[in-house]
Amino acid sequence: MARDPLNPLHNPGVAQALSIRGHELVAFSISGVSTYVLAPSLDACFDMGHCPVEGARLRNVLLTHCHQDHALGVIRHRAIRQMWGDSPSRVFVPEESRAALLAVLRAVDAMEGRGREDTLERDVTGVRAGETFELSKRCRVEAFDVVHKAPSRGYSAIERRRALKAPFVGRPGVELAEARRRGEELYDYTDQRTITYIGDSTIETLERVDPSVLDCDVLFLEATHVGATDPAVSEKYGHTHLNELAALFRRAPERFGRSQIVLKHWSTRYSRSEITEALRALPPAFGARITALL
Ligand SMILES: [Zn+2]
Ligand SMILES: [Zn+2]
Repeated sequence: MARDPLNPLHNPGVAQALSIRGHELVAFSISGVSTYVLAPSLDACFDMGHCPVEGARLRNVLLTHCHQDHALGVIRHRAIRQMWGDSPSRVFVPEESRAALLAVLRAVDAMEGRGREDTLERDVTGVRAGETFELSKRCRVEAFDVVHKAPSRGYSAIERRRALKAPFVGRPGVELAEARRRGEELYDYTDQRTITYIGDSTIETLERVDPSVLDCDVLFLEATHVGATDPAVSEKYGHTHLNELAALFRRAPERFGRSQIVLKHWSTRYSRSEITEALRALPPAFGARITALL
């Protein structure tokens, strides 16, 4: 396909800082090139197509699948953390792809000729659909199945929040310490589903998945294609067309819960203006909830 060098790609190659419902995130995504989302409050990255320096500061890497534009950055993530003397990267990957990823990482170690202590068996965890794992004491992640051309998982973070019980609000610290000594419970705890992240996927995932998973603060979805591209092409390659998301919203808006939606993974075949034009044509109630990674 001939490309006009003066017609700029939709994304200039710079990660975006996002601030959505109190969640501070950094995200980058171009289909086939690289996708990653940094979530510092979770000490985690969702996908790792490329590893920016800021990404290497976060210990956990949650790979949705092992296509190169989502997984290649793991090599650099491990290398930078080792260079800094940090604890090894902790990688979560669909169980079906774990052995292949381990083989790649071991091959890189051999290629570099470094005597790296092999802790990979411990550091790389295979994830099955329906499993839950802990990122920290206050955050657990539910994994679910995603329809794509490679084995793929979606990840949904549930954070435990605490708030002082009503009788203790505004009381001086010495009183709280006294109550704690008496063994009283000072806090109420609630679970909040904060970020749900789906990597590459057909629209089918959104129709299959338990609706509670999509009812979160920030929902990352893919929209690879827009405009005149036939949605059959999206389906063929395991992707989603923006029109399919709009149709699902018209048919069943409750499917998207209360989430604010971030759309990512636009194809390199589109210019920025083609995508913004397609976004403007969305049902206004849907468009108002969307942040596009452009
Ligand atoms: Zn991709
Ligand atoms: Zn993919």
